[in-house]
Amino acid sequence: MSSPRSPRIWQLKDIRYRLLGVECNKCNKRFLGKRLVCPSCGSRDLKIVELSRTGKIYSYTVVHTPPRGRENYGPYIIAIIELDDGARATGEVVDVDPSEVEIGMKVEMVFRRIGEEDRAGIIYYGYKFRPIL
Ligand SMILES: [Zn+2]
Repeated sequence: MSSPRSPRIWQLKDIRYRLLGVECNKCNKRFLGKRLVCPSCGSRDLKIVELSRTGKIYSYTVVHTPPRGRENYGPYIIAIIELDDGARATGEVVDVDPSEVEIGMKVEMVFRRIGEEDRAGIIYYGYKFRPIL
């Protein structure tokens, strides 16, 4: 039996295709991911929300030395995105040349393959960001 007070919102299929976070009922700030305590005011009165899928680049780094397993991947961009609802997310920015990325660039979330199949044949997907043209 499942009660309405424990939504199964954190199940994998939801996490894959939605950008979930929490909103603090005390200070109204939003944060990415599952949290029990508000990082801003310390309140435990939080509710689960679906975060905005669009935002702008707050800061970024161009990674020229890919980690092991991604040697052929080339330079890529890791950015902190300030979402339209104020939450921040860190992720890769795709579909743009590192020389053309800039702070303040409008981006939207997309789901992309982020890892190779493991021995169980699982392919990992996660969110990335791409410029809004
Ligand atoms: Zn708070």
